[in-house]
Amino acid sequence: MANTISGGIVVVLLFGSIACQTIAESGSEVNVKLPGNTTVETSVADTVVAQLDSLTVVPIAQSENPAITDLEKAIRAAGLVEVQELESAIYCNLKYSTTDNFLGEDVYGDFDKCFLQPEAAAGLAVAQAHLEKKHPGWHLSIFDAVRPRRVQQQMWDLVDYPIQEKVRYVSNPKNGSLHNYGAAVDITIVTETGEELDMGTPFDYFGELAYPRKETALLAAGLLSQEVIENRRLLREVMYHGGFTVLPTEWWHFNFCSRAEAAQRYTIIE
Ligand SMILES: [Zn+2]
Repeated sequence: MANTISGGIVVVLLFGSIACQTIAESGSEVNVKLPGNTTVETSVADTVVAQLDSLTVVPIAQSENPAITDLEKAIRAAGLVEVQELESAIYCNLKYSTTDNFLGEDVYGDFDKCFLQPEAAAGLAVAQAHLEKKHPGWHLSIFDAVRPRRVQQQMWDLVDYPIQEKVRYVSNPKNGSLHNYGAAVDITIVTETGEELDMGTPFDYFGELAYPRKETALLAAGLLSQEVIENRRLLREVMYHGGFTVLPTEWWHFNFCSRAEAAQRYTIIE
């Protein structure tokens, strides 16, 4: 099947074997499938992943548009695609391009678009389709997608804590993170009236309340509501359909593959 996108790329999906999507342990990041998410139909997920394997993206020459920043040019040259060119129903709400983030600083400047590796972007389109099937009019909404390493370095420098503390807030730019490869996304769900679902904490809340792996205990202790748990399960369910796995300590962060796989297939956006 072929899908032509007006924004300047052509995406071709073919069937093949499993792509960059393995539940694996890599460095300090552990991808897990959590209890309570068994509603994912394996056959559907397998088909999706199979479809993604042979995806090729052919960039069409960019016009000399002054709105395209040098950073965006470099990201496109590395083969990443803008998620909204692939699926316009997905919102792009880059928090680091505003001052509404834990740093209180706009570290992205003019860059305000959501780019991912083509397979990951196609996976998100699949996740959006699954969300719409369950809740017509609802949208995935991205807080962060590709994050160039120089920005990660800037964030690292802005967090004024000893190194052991720092790693709780930002991953060490020296190691490279899946955001640096464009293979991870921070995301939530917005309803048809434009409201974000209640996930129990804001984006980038650093504490146990944000830990998917502690949800059962947090629910039992009355610290998270049943509604919050169900909202997070819905987010995970739709993201699993697209081939993503959640980070056990951040309800909003999803990896498309392990760091080892990303290092093999992709290059870091500096
Ligand atoms: Zn993240």
